[in-house]
Amino acid sequence: MQTAPDFKLRSTLVLTGLSVQEASNFLKHQAEHHNLKLTKDEEGNLSCATPFANVFLKVSGDTPEIVVQAASQDMLYLVQEDLSEHLGELDAERAGKMQWSSIFTPGSYPPNFRLAEVINVRRVNSSYNRVRIKTDGLSDFTSGGMHFRLLIPASGALKAVAYPTIGENGQTVWPKGEDALHRPVYTTRRVNIEQGWLEFDVFRHAGGRATEWSEKAVPGTEVGLMGPGGGTLPKASRILLAGDETALPAISRIVEHLEADACGTLLLLTDEATVPEDVALPAGVSIRLVERGSSRHPLLDAVKVSSLLQESPYIWFASEKSETKAARSYFETCDWFDPQASYIAAYWTAR
Ligand SMILES: Cc1cc2nc3c(=O)[nH]c(=O)nc-3n(C[C@H](O)[C@H](O)[C@H](O)COP(=O)(O)OP(=O)(O)OC[C@H]3O[C@@H](n4cnc5c(N)ncnc54)[C@H](O)[C@@H]3O)c2cc1C
Repeated sequence: MQTAPDFKLRSTLVLTGLSVQEASNFLKHQAEHHNLKLTKDEEGNLSCATPFANVFLKVSGDTPEIVVQAASQDMLYLVQEDLSEHLGELDAERAGKMQWSSIFTPGSYPPNFRLAEVINVRRVNSSYNRVRIKTDGLSDFTSGGMHFRLLIPASGALKAVAYPTIGENGQTVWPKGEDALHRPVYTTRRVNIEQGWLEFDVFRHAGGRATEWSEKAVPGTEVGLMGPGGGTLPKASRILLAGDETALPAISRIVEHLEADACGTLLLLTDEATVPEDVALPAGVSIRLVERGSSRHPLLDAVKVSSLLQESPYIWFASEKSETKAARSYFETCDWFDPQASYIAAYWTAR
C-alpha cells in the first residue's frame, strides 16, 4: 500500500456494517466528488492523495477500514468529518456507531473551530455586505483552503447559545433543537495578519439567514467559524471562470493570484452589474456579465459558446446546484475535458 511518510498524524475508522464493495464504492464516490485520483494496489486497497492529507481504504482484513493521514490536526479533523458526514448520508445510525481512533479529546471544541468577533460590517454595493472579523490563527486562512463555515443561530438570534464539540466517537456533536446552528460556507476574501482581521463578502439575497445576520451584526458580535478548508487557488495560465454572485469572492481571490501574463475569461451570472470595484483582473482576463433571462442554465449556455474552450483552459465553475450538475454532465461529454484541470462545485441549492 502507498504510504505518505510526511503526514505524521493519523486516525482510523472501522467501517462496521459495510461490505468491501460498499466501502470501495463509497471511497470512489468521495474521490469523484472531490475531483481526486484514486489508486488501487494489488490487494485491492484504495488510496487517495492530496497535498494536505491521504486517505487509504484497507480491504485486507475482515472489515474494511479507512486510514487518514494528515499534515495538521485541523486537516485530520476536516477529512474525518467529511468522511463521517458522507457516511451519515448513506446511513446515519450506522455512521454514528463508527468510532474514529481519534487523537482528539471528547468534549472539547473541534481543532478547526474558532470563536471570532465582528469588527465591522459595511455595504460594498447593493449586492454584498463585507464582514470584517478578528479571530485566532489568522495565518491558517492564508494557506489552508479558501473557505470556512460560518456558525450562526438557525433561530435567527444574533449570538449562538452553544457551539460544536467532539463526541466520544470522534465525530462532531452539533447543538440541536432551539440551539441548532446554521452553517453556510463562505470564502475568505482577505486576511491582514498585522492588523489582525479577516474579511468575507456576504451576497445579499432574499430570505438568507446569513444575509440577515450580516445586517444585524455590530462591532463585538460573537460568531463561530469552522475552517479553513476546501478550494485551492488554481495555478493556470489559461482559465475559464464561470460563477454567480456567491462565487465572486472565490473568483476574486483566484484572479488576484494568477500570473500577470495569465489569460482567460470570467463569465459572471448576475441580475445587476454588481462587481465590487476591488476585483483586480490580470490584463489578459476579460469579464462578461451574463443575465439570467429565461434560460434554465444561462451560465452554462454562456460557457458553451466561449471561444476559450477551443484552447483547453482550466475550467472553474461554481453556481446553483442544478446548473452545476448540468455543467458537469456537459463537460464530461467534451473530449478535451480534464477533470484534474477543473473545479466544478455547487455553491447553493434553490428551494
Ligand atoms: C465553497 C463555497 C463558497 C461560498 N462562498 C460564498 C461567499 O463568499 N459569499 C456568499 O455570499 N456565498 C458563498 N457561498 C454560498 C452560500 O454558502 C450559500 O448561498 C448559502 O446558502 C447562504 O446561506 P444563507 O444563510 O444566505 O441562505 P439560507 O438561509 O441557507 O437559505 C435561504 C433561502 O435562500 C436561498 N438561497 C441561498 N443562496 C442563494 C443565492 N445565492 N441566491 C438566491 N437564493 C439563495 C435558498 O435556496 C433558501 O431558499 C459559498 C458556497 C460554497 C459551497
